[in-house]
Amino acid sequence: MGIIEVKNVNRSFQNGKETAHVLKNISLNIEEGEFVSIMGPSGGGKSTLLYLLGGLDQPTSGSVKIDGVDLSTLKDKELCRMRNEDIGFVFQFYNLVPNLSVEDNIALPLMLSGKKISDYKDKIDECLDIIGMKEKRKLTPRELSGGQQQRVAIARALVFDPKILFLDEPIGNLDSKTGFKIMELFRKINEKYNKTIIQVTHSEEAAEYGTSLVKLVDGQIKTVKPVSMTA
Ligand code: ADP
Ligand code: MG
Repeated sequence: MGIIEVKNVNRSFQNGKETAHVLKNISLNIEEGEFVSIMGPSGGGKSTLLYLLGGLDQPTSGSVKIDGVDLSTLKDKELCRMRNEDIGFVFQFYNLVPNLSVEDNIALPLMLSGKKISDYKDKIDECLDIIGMKEKRKLTPRELSGGQQQRVAIARALVFDPKILFLDEPIGNLDSKTGFKIMELFRKINEKYNKTIIQVTHSEEAAEYGTSLVKLVDGQIKTVKPVSMTA
């Protein structure tokens, strides 16, 4: 059993009288510990697929299972808990809260789940350590570079120690040198901390950090292969 199993997934959007059939019969199996890169042309449905995999959106038909659980069978409350605690999302534009400090941004998922922050002091320290920003914990996002802000977003995604991280163009807003440092961090998180990672990217170089590659073109999977075969 894969950690994520996608079966015959379709996703359509209704725009007035028009129906846009964005994802067409997608089936995919992702094993625990994989680092999957999803590539393909802009508008091809990559973000739509990522949001379905992470329970941020529901398929029009077909099923998405995480750890064997069909997401469509979850009650709203359980789905919210899963999204907040069992998986983490990192987006292109970081989505930090500007008036909260680094450590409070990292603690945000804990607050949303009603946890006592004082019970998670060590976890927050560990997350700050992973991103190498312990000494910057009291700063606010506007005092940080783009790369540092993305590191904080990564720490926030890790605070519940989720099994899976979903990344949507995580280095799309960064210069290439900073971007590669962030990709090195994701590699460490995949290898040392044993997280399954699924990233959407249009950078060939970023995709090569993955252990496997999925090409999504016009809403359909064109190829699935180990990244080492793509060189
Ligand atoms: P990609 O991430 O590969 O660039 P997206 O998944 O963002 O592509 O979008 C694929 C297509 O689906 C686009 O044509 C987009 O306009 C459409 N789409 C995505 N989300 C919605 C939505 N909520 N409502 C209507 N159309 C959408
Ligand atoms: Mg996208």
